[in-house]
Amino acid sequence: MKNSSDMTTSRPRLTVIGTGYLGATHAAAMAELGFEVMGVDVDPDKIDRLSQGILPFHEPELPELLTKHLSTGRLRFTTSIEEAGAFGDIHFIAVGTPQKDGEGAADLSYVDAAVEAIANAATHNCVIVGKSTVPVGTARRLQALVEKVKKTNVEISFAWNPEFLREGFAVQDTLAPDRLVVGTNSDLAITALRFVYQDALSRGTPFIATDFETSELVKVAANAFLATKISFINAFSEVTEKVGGDIRTLADAIGHDARIGRRFLNAGVGFGGGCLPKDIRALQARVGELGLDHTMAFLHEVDSINLRRRERVIDVAHSLLNGVNEKKIAILGTTFKPNSDDVRDSPALDIAARLYGQGADVRVFDPKGMENSAKRFPRLTYSRSLVDAVEGADLVLLLTEWEEFRKMDPNHIGGLVGSKVIVDGRNVLDVVEWESADWQYHALGRKSIHANPSILAT
Ligand code: NAD
Repeated sequence: MKNSSDMTTSRPRLTVIGTGYLGATHAAAMAELGFEVMGVDVDPDKIDRLSQGILPFHEPELPELLTKHLSTGRLRFTTSIEEAGAFGDIHFIAVGTPQKDGEGAADLSYVDAAVEAIANAATHNCVIVGKSTVPVGTARRLQALVEKVKKTNVEISFAWNPEFLREGFAVQDTLAPDRLVVGTNSDLAITALRFVYQDALSRGTPFIATDFETSELVKVAANAFLATKISFINAFSEVTEKVGGDIRTLADAIGHDARIGRRFLNAGVGFGGGCLPKDIRALQARVGELGLDHTMAFLHEVDSINLRRRERVIDVAHSLLNGVNEKKIAILGTTFKPNSDDVRDSPALDIAARLYGQGADVRVFDPKGMENSAKRFPRLTYSRSLVDAVEGADLVLLLTEWEEFRKMDPNHIGGLVGSKVIVDGRNVLDVVEWESADWQYHALGRKSIHANPSILAT
């Protein structure tokens, strides 16, 4: 029977339930820290691939870690929750909490099922630690569920430890987080998690122990703040566009103020992915249930500003091409951000699909997102390369800022397209360089040299 001193004298064995972007990374990173880890998923194909060292998604540095720890024997995968219950001393819950169909609220059925299953399967005293992003109130409700379904001779401590990793930097963010937040009413859970994260703690990483509710709210507050910052600059880009100002200069200038900071002030087609959009909607839904709709009403506007950016790109395409029907449009990027293959709620893929729906001859290319994009929208034309996508294009839309697109040579690309017209949906290209190569350059919220030659002086 484990107690708090057992947790630190013998190494606890870990399980990670749910092996998607969060869970597979967490499992491999914990193995890297020296723990024996078992990854568990209900998707047999995913478990099969992970067991063979094949990562089912793109994440830099993770394939190497996966292969390494399948070899060291510290990492293994299973679909059997019973095996996990017999194996683990600390069980991390990393299953999805997607938006419910047709509603803003989070679908908690996966998290409920995973917690219930592992609590029921646990054969010895253990700690269950939620990492998924959940609406406030979930952890306390699940702790009561655990008490109801666990075996009578087993004691289970419960904690919520939200995850802040960024796709594209997930391994580094897991091994070296900028803070650790744990919501719990159990000293044993705190001791166990301090032990698991001792490597980061020894380097001075802040460890914030709090109640369940605060820990749940920290995660959604962080995402709401980031989403608001992006929509803030995008709202200003609507104004700079109207009056002929330059949003990048504005962002640089306000970003010099240390209270504001420059990060997350990049105007463009807005945010997407499996977290920010659904998390701000779930937060609004949850505060609505609490009778506090007005407190988060501004998030509705944050969401609307974000979605308007997609409309804006489509409007610009229509006006540049005098209607998009049968026009060849090269779409560069389908993932919601570079260095990921994640196309969940991706602005780029949404714009591509809508232009296709409006009759455009859309040619799509993304360095890593083609397979996921084709699963979602099989009817788009997927090009083999950047060169293939832009060949003969009437318009080029840069919608995800992959390094390959940022580094494009305007002279080389200019020799391939039908018309040298580009919309820089991420504000990452050098306007002077592109216009000097005779491109008609457009960016959201940013003037071109032709519109105002004074930009050359800056
Ligand atoms: P994902 O869809 O990639 O992975 C979820 C996995 O859980 C899937 O493999 C699914 O098969 C599995 N699963 C579902 N029910 C299960 C069950 N009962 N038992 C075992 N496995 C089960 O999702 P994700 O992006 O990894 O996100 C997971 C959670 O982490 C979400 O709450 C998300 O908001 C949060 N989060 C994600 C990120 C990110 O960057 N992806 C960052 C921080 C937090």
